[in-house]
Amino acid sequence: MPGRCIIRGNVAVSPIMRSGRGNNSAVPEVCLSEAISREDALQLIRCPDNDLPTLLAAARAAKERFKPAVITYSRKVFIPLTNLCRDYCGYCTFRRDPGDPGAHTMTPDEVLEVARAGEKLGCTEALFSLGDKPELLFPEMRDTLRHLGYKSTLHYLEAMCELVLRETSLLPHPNPGLLSAEWIARLAAVSPSMGLMLETTNSDLLATGRAHDNAPDKVPAKRLRTIEEAGKQKVPFTTGLLIGIGESLEDRVDTLLAIRDLHERYGHVQEVIIQNFRVKPTIPMANWPEPSPGEMLRTVAVARLLLPEVNIQAPPNLSAPYYEDLIDAGINDWGGISPLTPDFINPEKPWPHIEQLRLRTEAKGAILRQRLPVYPEFVSDVIARPGLLSDRLRAATGDDGLARRAA
Ligand code: SF4
Repeated sequence: MPGRCIIRGNVAVSPIMRSGRGNNSAVPEVCLSEAISREDALQLIRCPDNDLPTLLAAARAAKERFKPAVITYSRKVFIPLTNLCRDYCGYCTFRRDPGDPGAHTMTPDEVLEVARAGEKLGCTEALFSLGDKPELLFPEMRDTLRHLGYKSTLHYLEAMCELVLRETSLLPHPNPGLLSAEWIARLAAVSPSMGLMLETTNSDLLATGRAHDNAPDKVPAKRLRTIEEAGKQKVPFTTGLLIGIGESLEDRVDTLLAIRDLHERYGHVQEVIIQNFRVKPTIPMANWPEPSPGEMLRTVAVARLLLPEVNIQAPPNLSAPYYEDLIDAGINDWGGISPLTPDFINPEKPWPHIEQLRLRTEAKGAILRQRLPVYPEFVSDVIARPGLLSDRLRAATGDDGLARRAA
């Protein structure tokens, strides 16, 4: 596609972008004031190495137009409420069956202990991660819940979010898997935001031997329904892609377009995470190839260009040691970083020290700021709902909608 530039419109053209306007560029012309088509997105995500700097420059320009000069992170504690799960995703090291070494459901005292320790370290988010509906598969989980006094894992989660909200200054952000309309409403009363990774819209990954074989909660249509229901209820929602699990480049674009479609209809997608698959020796996908850094940069950049006014996050620990390159691709957030708890989903990949993260972010020309689990553009809607959640959120929020306690 000779002579075509990546970008036009009201975005400053950087020297890198100018250099990318070579006569042999395969990158399509993209105008940031117009929605990018599927065809253009496919061309962008497949761009050859010599066009990558041009793509990255366009994505970084889009990010600077959206959130100039700042990269955010959420200082959090990770609360793995239960690692029992009824799904068996091929890449997961988090899940356990009852009786497996490390299988555990936290008690309320354990939840509170972690949350209070995080509070002392300036954390503002309690990220609840847990397996999806383990009691449907395991009688042991039903016994545990009965002993704790709850009918289901979601009832227990709701109570633990409420406990953290009542007893600490942390704001809960639950990631419990598929949710009905009723459960979205119930959890929204005790948390300002929530999340569910869409991962991919490719339902072929449910086939025997593939990543979502024996993972009934990973049916893309069901996950889209949960995200849509959150939209109908105007719940600030985090979702994202897991790349490198057997999906194609087309699938990545189609997954981003599905998220864009929901966001255009409901305006509730506060953040899109681009998470890269990392191999671990103990998983069924132990011999699966990881996506390359170039694939990760292309996917992040295309996500930024398809969703120019949505927060785009990529976890730094999964792209170490060169994670700051993700800033070049248009991210504006590093996600949750804990000064206290390990990344229980990828325990072999420690989070960077927050001071290191700050220095490396600054070296890329941005300042690091601490945000809350709910992004600034959604804070006022949540505060408008009267009650304890509103009070806690108001107390935690600074004038700019970020965390009152500066990073
Ligand atoms: S990725 Fe989530 S749903 Fe899949 S097995 Fe692990 S905990 Fe369960």
